[in-house]
Amino acid sequence: MTEARKQFPCPKCGNAVEKGSKFFPFCSHHCKYSDLYGWLEDTYRISTPLNDDSRPEEKKPEEK
Ligand SMILES: [Zn+2]
Repeated sequence: MTEARKQFPCPKCGNAVEKGSKFFPFCSHHCKYSDLYGWLEDTYRISTPLNDDSRPEEKKPEEK
C-alpha cells in the first residue's frame, strides 16, 4: 500500500507537514521565516566580528 500523501516533521517545531506544501519542509510561514532569520543572524554575526579597538599598524620610529 502506498500513501499518496507523505508527511514529514517540520524541522522547526516538529508538526507534520505534507510534501509539496507551500512552506515545505516547514509547516508554516512562521516556521520558515523564523528559521531563515536565525540563519541570517548567524551569518551576519560571523561576517561582522566585533573589532572595536582599531589599533594603528606598526609604528615606524623615525630615524635620521
Ligand atoms: Zn513548524
